[in-house]
Amino acid sequence: MDRRTLLAGGGTLLVAATLARDAHARFKAAELTHEDSHFMQLAIDQAKEADYPFGAVIIEGARVLALGRNSSKRNADPTAHAEMVAIRAFLSGHEPQDFKHTTLYSSGEPCPMCMGAIIWCGIRRLVYAASIAELATKIGQINITSQQMADATPFADMEIAGGLLSGNAMQLFDKG
Ligand SMILES: [Zn+2]
Repeated sequence: MDRRTLLAGGGTLLVAATLARDAHARFKAAELTHEDSHFMQLAIDQAKEADYPFGAVIIEGARVLALGRNSSKRNADPTAHAEMVAIRAFLSGHEPQDFKHTTLYSSGEPCPMCMGAIIWCGIRRLVYAASIAELATKIGQINITSQQMADATPFADMEIAGGLLSGNAMQLFDKG
C-alpha cells in the first residue's frame, strides 16, 4: 500500500509541506504507516465517547499502553484534554522514562498545554489528525501549532506528523 492509498480515506497530509518548509529543521515529519492509520482510528474511537470529540492513544511498538478521551465535563476539570488523560493513564502504570519510545496519536492537534506536557514527558513521536486551524473552524483554539511549540524547545527531539484521517476526526463535530 503506498502513501497515496493509505491516505485516501482522510484529510490532507501535511508531511510533504512540512518537509519542504523545514527541510533543514531537526524536527522530521514522521513517516506514516498503515499501523499509524490503525492507531489513529483508535484515537478517533475514543473521541466518539468523549465530552468534546477529542481522543488520544499512546503506543509503543504494536502495544496500546494508554487511552484518553476528553473528560473535561465529567471530571469538572478544564485540563482533562484527551492527551492529558492519556498521559496520566500511562503514568499510572509506567515510569516517566518509559515515554522515551512511545508515539502519541491524537484526533486533534495538541493545544499548547498538551503539547507542553508531551514535550516534558519526552514522547518520541506525535501523530495528529485534524490541525488546530481545522479545529478552530468548529471549537475555540489557542492558535499556536505543535510544530511551533517543538521548534521553540531546544531540548525537544521528536517527530511530528499531521493530517492523518483528519476528515474522520472533523466529522465528529458535525454529530449532535
Ligand atoms: Zn489540549
